[in-house]
Amino acid sequence: MSGCMGTEMKQGGHAVVHRASWLVPIVASPVSNGAVMVRNGTVLAFGRYSAVKAQCPAHTEEIDHGSSAILPALVNAHTHVELSALHGRIPLPQNGFPAWIERLFALRTRLSSGELEEGCRTGEDLLARGATGLYGDITNGMNLSRTLHSAVPARVSFLEVLGFNIEDLDQAVPPHLLQHIEESDRGGGSCSSIAAHACYSTSESILKSAKDWTRSRRLPFSIHTAEHPEEIEFLREGTGFCRGLLERLGKWVPGWQPPGTTPVRYLDRLGILDSHTLLVHAVHMTEDDWEVVARRQCAVCFCPRSNRNLNVGLPDIRQAIRLGIPSALGTDSLAGNTDLDLFEEAAFVLDLYPEIHPEKVLYMMTQGGAQALHKTSLFGSIESGKRSALVAVSLPDSVPRSQLSETIIRKGREGAWRWASCPEAD
Ligand SMILES: [Zn+2]
Repeated sequence: MSGCMGTEMKQGGHAVVHRASWLVPIVASPVSNGAVMVRNGTVLAFGRYSAVKAQCPAHTEEIDHGSSAILPALVNAHTHVELSALHGRIPLPQNGFPAWIERLFALRTRLSSGELEEGCRTGEDLLARGATGLYGDITNGMNLSRTLHSAVPARVSFLEVLGFNIEDLDQAVPPHLLQHIEESDRGGGSCSSIAAHACYSTSESILKSAKDWTRSRRLPFSIHTAEHPEEIEFLREGTGFCRGLLERLGKWVPGWQPPGTTPVRYLDRLGILDSHTLLVHAVHMTEDDWEVVARRQCAVCFCPRSNRNLNVGLPDIRQAIRLGIPSALGTDSLAGNTDLDLFEEAAFVLDLYPEIHPEKVLYMMTQGGAQALHKTSLFGSIESGKRSALVAVSLPDSVPRSQLSETIIRKGREGAWRWASCPEAD
């Protein structure tokens, strides 16, 4: 269970076949006695071992993973690796978002750039130890241009904009960073975009212009939405913790009128919800909110352990699945979680939501995450042409198909997995 360190390079340009008792492509049914052929970091073919074998050039190297399930590397759709230096510094659980954010502010401002940089490396190591092939990262600047640590193949970096009392995007984001984001997609999987922090910390004008900027470039846009009761109160009444915080920080706008509605309805009114908008958390949602999200085809990333650790409530993941909303999983940061391991997050979902089929949870942690980050052309499933970031999870002998997904998640959580194949980091 080590980091993904570009095993494909060691295998040079030759094709390699990986065989296992189960192959789990995610977007197709699991295949018993399955195999996948890879070359130069790309999947060439997959299916029954005999069928893949028949397509192999002579002298193709074979690696037999025995009683295992080969699945695509996981996609952690929401984290903040810059906060990794705060690992263990905020006691968890905290009693509510206000208590947690006060602690975060106090510690975050004291971090040196060296500690932040070290934290980013540590964070990426931990992501790799969580079988992560792609992660969605919220950054305040450092992790935008940092070279990706080769422990993880790819990253979508969202530069976080916020500012309640400013109107122009240029005030929130230096133009050279916008240019950097525009030039960030080189086709390898990693790219950058913009996220707004939240409705209570970002002005209506910045929310709209940030979304417009990403929309015109067909980039994903992310925003923390309906995370805690204080957010709901602020948008409905203009009162409570969020108002007091803005006043204390000198960001309050005298005369500001609350929209008087939910975060989802507010974002919809501003024209921000579409298929490239990723809503993170979605804990305090009404029936109507869910219908709006489904109609606008937004994706949602759930981070239920972070929600539990901050004691803000828990999301209705069932409702999102029932409505067919593209749903992903994220660990959130090490300031609000104990690790960056998506197998742990998934096992938490299995324990807390026993009525959700484990196959749905496995989908969320792979293809669902790739959908949320708009990277399904390269990550999230085993399909020809996708990147060969593959994980082999050890299984007991003779796991029946009906128990396969749950067993994969439980064994993964125990650490019983390793990289089968891993392309170089972008
Ligand atoms: Zn977050």
